[in-house]
Amino acid sequence: MQMDQLVALCKRRGFLFQSSEIYGGLSGFWDYGPMGVELKRNVREAWWHDMVTAHNEMITPDGAPSTYEMTGLDTTIIMHPQVWKCSGHFDLFHDYLVDCREAKRRYRHDQVFGRWVEGRGQKFFVATEKLGDQRQEEMQHRALKFLGLRAKNAGELDWQGPMVCLTGIDDFASVLGPDAKTLGTLTEPREFNLMFETHTGAIRDQESKTFLRPETAQGMFVNFKNVLDSTRVKIPFGIAQIGKSFRNEITPRNFTFRSREFEQMEIEFFCHPSTSAQWYTYWRDRRFRWYVELGLSGDRLRLRDHDADELSHYSTGTADIEYAFPFMAEGEFGELEGVAHRGDFDLRSHMEGKLDPKTCPLQLEKDEHGQPLHRGSGRDLSYFDAETKERFTPHVIEPSAGADRAALAFLCEAFSEDEVPDEHGKPTKRTFMKFHPRLAPYKAAVFPLVRKDGMPEVAREIYTRLKPRFNVFYDEKSAVGRRYRRQDEIGTPFCITVDGQTLADGTVTVRDRDTLRQWRIHKDACPAEIERLVSA
Ligand code: ATP
Repeated sequence: MQMDQLVALCKRRGFLFQSSEIYGGLSGFWDYGPMGVELKRNVREAWWHDMVTAHNEMITPDGAPSTYEMTGLDTTIIMHPQVWKCSGHFDLFHDYLVDCREAKRRYRHDQVFGRWVEGRGQKFFVATEKLGDQRQEEMQHRALKFLGLRAKNAGELDWQGPMVCLTGIDDFASVLGPDAKTLGTLTEPREFNLMFETHTGAIRDQESKTFLRPETAQGMFVNFKNVLDSTRVKIPFGIAQIGKSFRNEITPRNFTFRSREFEQMEIEFFCHPSTSAQWYTYWRDRRFRWYVELGLSGDRLRLRDHDADELSHYSTGTADIEYAFPFMAEGEFGELEGVAHRGDFDLRSHMEGKLDPKTCPLQLEKDEHGQPLHRGSGRDLSYFDAETKERFTPHVIEPSAGADRAALAFLCEAFSEDEVPDEHGKPTKRTFMKFHPRLAPYKAAVFPLVRKDGMPEVAREIYTRLKPRFNVFYDEKSAVGRRYRRQDEIGTPFCITVDGQTLADGTVTVRDRDTLRQWRIHKDACPAEIERLVSA
């Protein structure tokens, strides 16, 4: 599948629109259309249902039987600025950017790649921002152009070494920037904090500066004590939250993959330090399975454990759940979710402001009153186990997923094409979205074959009976073949059609989106049949 086919379908059928499109759009912001809003809501609801409300598993980490509880929260987007100082985001949540003085463009340092090439006595590094299989071709074209050569002279270029990231290049004077015509136009990398800033209250000064949250996680850490005190949860337990997060990404791109406003689905799971390694493995595998259960296929989905040098200083284990999105080069994957063992770093930071002095010496900075700038809340966020009489700071396992990236992966995976005979028997191309029924915007569509002979009345009656239980669609306009195509393109798994035979014996046809198989059932059996099919 080509990505532009999916982007076109998403616009045509109302899954995704560029935000503020009539004003030319705003980079990094996307609106969900009538179909997209249902798809994303289904992703969120499947997550909340499976992780929070319906979860009921007997787990045996460490061989000891143990259950866990899950509870939810909905915390604010704007929080006390001290939260971000203690979490590390204020000082450490940045990317490096480089500017091109010639092209007046800005790039994320770690997202520019390239290769060294030698030709006509010159050696230089051709940088590109492109992903995917066409990037070598694009680099070749630009290297030739830079040297004033033509395509037929490609043999004169001596490409050296593999594709490497710009972060590994020191000699910027020899770099041909991604949109530049001359060498050495890129500036040295500069830090750029990704948090959006705003002000609360009427006075806009340093004191009133606040931030839009870049993750939902901190809302759960700072409410840890409130959850303990207001519910009967005991460790081990998890807090879940779904909500918007904001990051001023330097180069938003790849459709919704890297947006500036997006939604996260995060869990903070609190457990005893002695069992945290087992819980980490449990969550890593549980979360991976969730994507498989909802239809992401084995060869495009992978679980990748971070190497020791990729881990944050506080983490003893992190794994990414990744998907091979079609806009990536062969063999490349993009992160859907990170599952991290965070130790007691977050709770301790909010208690003591105690960031690791090796990696964050800034805790020593003082404000004008002589107070440490990165001081914690001073509140006791430890846990007392009434049975063992032990007091400890829990360890945290954090599965952190993106609802938009998950929705995008489900869209990519669902996009399918085949050939089916049209009404004259001629093979024609069909596009259909093979969503898991739980994720499909509509679970079924109901049609009268023709708009006469009492068929619309019967179809309306079936629709009315289904509607309170399932999101269903009624359509009587245009030829039935076209109505099927439309439902195929929005991924409706089942179509129910009322025809001449219905009037004689009360049966209707049910059509399966993927196999095109049709079978008859009694019209009164429709709610039970859809229930059976959707939950199969
Ligand atoms: P990346 O390396 O791709 O920027 P990250 O490692 O910074 O991602 P996390 O901070 O671990 O991401 O965020 C958890 C999840 O939130 C990600 O796995 C992803 O699904 C989602 N997410 C993060 N940034 C974005 C974004 N800019 N647009 C859409 N989703 C995002």
